[in-house]
Amino acid sequence: MGLKVLKFGGSSVADGIQLTKTRNIIEADPDRRYVVVSAPGKRFEIDNKVTDLLYLCYTHMEQNLPYDQVFQVIADRFTAECLNLDIDVDLQGELDTIMDNMKKGCSRDYIASRGEYLSAIVTAAYLGVDFVDTANLILFDKKNRLLEEETNEALSEELAKHERAVIPGFYGSSAETGEIVTFSRGGSDITGALVARATKADVYENWTDVSGFLMADPRIVKDPRPIDRISYKELRELSYMGASVLHEDAIYPCRTANIPINIRNTNIPDDPGTIITADVEISDRVVTGIAGSKDFAVIAIYKNMLSKEKGFFRRLLMILEDFNLSLEHMPTGIDTVSLVISNKAIDGRLDEIVDEIQSQLKPDNIETFEDISLIATVGAGMSFRSGVSATLFTALAEAGVNIRMIDQGSSEMNIIVGVATSDFNKAIRAIYQAFA
Ligand code: ASP
Repeated sequence: MGLKVLKFGGSSVADGIQLTKTRNIIEADPDRRYVVVSAPGKRFEIDNKVTDLLYLCYTHMEQNLPYDQVFQVIADRFTAECLNLDIDVDLQGELDTIMDNMKKGCSRDYIASRGEYLSAIVTAAYLGVDFVDTANLILFDKKNRLLEEETNEALSEELAKHERAVIPGFYGSSAETGEIVTFSRGGSDITGALVARATKADVYENWTDVSGFLMADPRIVKDPRPIDRISYKELRELSYMGASVLHEDAIYPCRTANIPINIRNTNIPDDPGTIITADVEISDRVVTGIAGSKDFAVIAIYKNMLSKEKGFFRRLLMILEDFNLSLEHMPTGIDTVSLVISNKAIDGRLDEIVDEIQSQLKPDNIETFEDISLIATVGAGMSFRSGVSATLFTALAEAGVNIRMIDQGSSEMNIIVGVATSDFNKAIRAIYQAFA
């Protein structure tokens, strides 16, 4: 018998109708033994996610404002679900405990985690399988960093005792204090990946509300082609640029254990979705996906004989470190170097940074461009082919897009261009059309 770990996102457990679809999916395949759930998400466009409401309760608590009404909205959602699906569980007892803990002044992470906790208890009862809490299984150190080995051991030891289980996503606890600690938002994906690794699953199915990854953002390109297979590395490049379907940190546990991740759509379960694996066979596909991210600044520095000057780059990078800035890209030319930094990190300090570079490194000239967008064209197949960059640059030229910066990683899996933000959509469409 095989073993599949499934994770259902917020929209897949948003209400009774969605939970019924979830159950049908789980019961359609006996290998689907371990199920990780998120907190209920939005049921319609202007609805609230349970996790957001829980954070709101905490904000009210902090400000000494009443939070009962907000909590009641959450309680009502779970109660309605249990009534509609005739789920036999002591929901009131659970809600009372949470309310008591809130009155005692519990932590922000504790409150935030209760959406997943209740969601897993209800789902387990609905499926008639064990509920396994992750509070003492997913462990964090003092700085809230995941303790990889301890977590892996604790999860595999506990789950071996359960033939099937429903597991809450998003949280664990501090190994030292036992207090609840959550991952960053969207972190149930990470729980799913950790469970998949701990149980040595054959596949990690991540069920959401889209049928996997598309070659480009559908808000920019009309009906982009779905990506049926993608490698972890390609995905990393695309998610860095903002293609978000899966939490970034969910990739590592599966990658190290060589477990494929299959993104699937709960609303269209027959769609095969996207499979993410270590290697993807290079077929005739050159470009796997195109993703972009707005809001960068470029500081372009010119200095005659720059490359001969010892310590120039070290001193430049130290200035960035002093400003606590991380660098996104640093394309270089013979006498030039450009720094690409997000505007968020710069945080209004561009003039100060430029002054510091000017006074310490005495360049001949410094230019800054503030409204730059980066677009990554990613594909493992690119390194085996010639003419890819020619096609890309021709497409951009024909669309009238001026390229401000070019960077190609040494993996040759990725060409990044910087364009004016006003050209962002036009550039993505042009690249898509050239390679789709
Ligand atoms: N419920 C949490 C969030 O909204 C975690 C998750 O859904 O993965 O971020």
